[in-house]
Amino acid sequence: MIALAADVGGSRIKLAVVRDGTILARRIEPAQSQLRWEQRLPGLAASWRSLCTEARLDVAAIDGIGIGFPSLVDSARGRILDEWGKFPGCANFDLGAWARAMFGKPLALENDARAALIGEWRQGAGRGCDNVAMITLGTGLGVGVVMQGRVLRGAHGQAGTLGGHLTVRYGGRTCVCGNIGCAEAEASTAVLRELALARADFASSALATEPHLDYEAVFRRADTGDACAIALRDHSLAVWSVAVVNLIHAYDPERVIIGGGIMQSSDEILPAIRAYAHSHAHTAWGKVEIARCELGDDAALLGCSWMVAEKLGAIPAA
Ligand SMILES: [Zn+2]
Repeated sequence: MIALAADVGGSRIKLAVVRDGTILARRIEPAQSQLRWEQRLPGLAASWRSLCTEARLDVAAIDGIGIGFPSLVDSARGRILDEWGKFPGCANFDLGAWARAMFGKPLALENDARAALIGEWRQGAGRGCDNVAMITLGTGLGVGVVMQGRVLRGAHGQAGTLGGHLTVRYGGRTCVCGNIGCAEAEASTAVLRELALARADFASSALATEPHLDYEAVFRRADTGDACAIALRDHSLAVWSVAVVNLIHAYDPERVIIGGGIMQSSDEILPAIRAYAHSHAHTAWGKVEIARCELGDDAALLGCSWMVAEKLGAIPAA
C-alpha cells in the first residue's frame, strides 16, 4: 500500500511517500499559508510527483492520499471545517474531488494531531493499546484519542481534538478558540512571548537576549538559574500536567503519549507530567502510563498512510 502524505502546519508542510509504514521519500516546505488553498494545492501535487520520482515510483502506483490539517475537520466528508487566517478558502473545499481529479485516487483527511495519534497508535508508542490519548506540545496543543479501539471523532468530528482547549484556569487568558483559560492559551509556543513579556523580571532575564524565544531557550536558561526562565518553565510544566489530568479524567486512557516539538527541548517534561498525573489523576484502578512519542516528526505522515489504508478497506476502519 503506497500513500502520498502531507502534514500541514501553519509554518511548514511535511510531505512524504509512504509504503507499508515506511517513508520512502520526504521533504519539508515553507507552508506559504498566506496563499489561498486552491493556489497552494498545485505546489503540493508537484512536490508529491517529484517525491515519487525520487522514490523511483510511478505516480500511477500510489493507492491514495492522506492529509493531516491543523484545524477542525470532518473526516467523514473530507472537509476542513474552519480557517484560522491561514490558507484562505480551505474551509469546505472539496479535497476529495481535487484528489480524484489530480491523481484519480481517494483522499483521507484528518486533524493533524489526530493523524499523529493514529501513527503512534498503529506503529509507535500506542501500539497494542486500545485506549490511548496523545497530546502534542508545540505552537498549539493538539490532542487525539483512541477509546475502546476506535479513534474518537464524535458527532461533528471534533471529539478529542479540543483536548488542548479544555479549561485549566478559570478566569485565565482568552484563547483563539473563544474559550477562556484553555491549556493552549496558558502555555504553548504561540503564547510564550506574551507570557514572558508579562513578567516584571523578563527585561533583566537572559531570555530577553535570545534571538528566538522558544521553549528550548526557556529550559536552557532555567538550567542556569535564570529566575524568569524557571518561572516560565514551572508554570508551563504545571499547565501541561493539569491538561494531562483533564485528558485522563475525560477519556480514561491506559496510556497518554506526549509528543510535539517542545518535547525535543527537554528531558524534564515527561517525568514532571508523570509525577503530577500519578499524584493527582483519579484512577482507582492503578496508574496511567505516561509515554514519550516514538515517531517524532513522522507521526502524522505515517498516520496519514494508515488513514489511507482504512479508507481503502485494506485494514478495518477505526
Ligand atoms: Zn482554546
